[in-house]
Amino acid sequence: APWRATILTLYPEMFPGPLGVSLSGDALTRGDWTLEARNIREHGLGRHRSVDDTPAGGGAGMVLRCDVLAAAIDAATGADDQRPRLLMSPRGRPLTQARVRDLAGGPGALIVCGRFEGVDERVIEGRSLEEVSIGDYVLSGGEIAALVVLDACVRLLPGVMGKMESGIEESFEGGLLEYPHYTRPRDWESRAIPDVLSSGNHAAIARWRRAEAERITAERRPDLPGGSRRDQAASKSITG
Ligand code: SAM
Repeated sequence: APWRATILTLYPEMFPGPLGVSLSGDALTRGDWTLEARNIREHGLGRHRSVDDTPAGGGAGMVLRCDVLAAAIDAATGADDQRPRLLMSPRGRPLTQARVRDLAGGPGALIVCGRFEGVDERVIEGRSLEEVSIGDYVLSGGEIAALVVLDACVRLLPGVMGKMESGIEESFEGGLLEYPHYTRPRDWESRAIPDVLSSGNHAAIARWRRAEAERITAERRPDLPGGSRRDQAASKSITG
């Protein structure tokens, strides 16, 4: 069965958006995954299909109503729906490649996109929503964050990456950022490709790449599991 994505949003016209082209777009056309963007407003109240109201306790902005959102979630999910339900939220657990792999290995995802000040807290608990953040900054809505989650998941689906199945050695796998890449021309603006890469010595190339990955990780992301190794060539560039 294809990986199934259902998006709940006030702006369904934002989907598939950029995911309609390239790898993810081709995969969508092939049916490797399916995408359904549902308008929360279909469950809005009254003549104006109202979806939000003022915050209890006062303050600026508007809050998405729990009853409206719950109705949208219930209409989008059957009783046998095993998919995780994500709520895009700057308060959520930051998205990681490990969580992405997990999601991509499952049946799909239901993703709720917030707007305004966010959603009524009660629907998060009442519909078991997992809050997911894409980083420590604030977007104006959850849609672009949902596109990020989908892009990260879809490229991992079987058959989607094709020849780029280098997936295993990518940044974050094994707790390291990736080593630098080079291609032709061999000399460019008096910068040459590192000699070892033209040596044909595969063991030496693998050692060099590993050392570079460790150096870059230690410099840029000491918080990553691979970023704190003491026995690496990398620490030289830090301690001098
Ligand atoms: N008042 C909220 C706060 O301070 O946490 C910010 C709400 S934001 C303007 C509107 C919506 O954008 C959120 O409900 C969420 O769905 C989405 N959003 C904003 N930043 C995000 C982030 N870093 N990751 C995931 N979703 C985000």
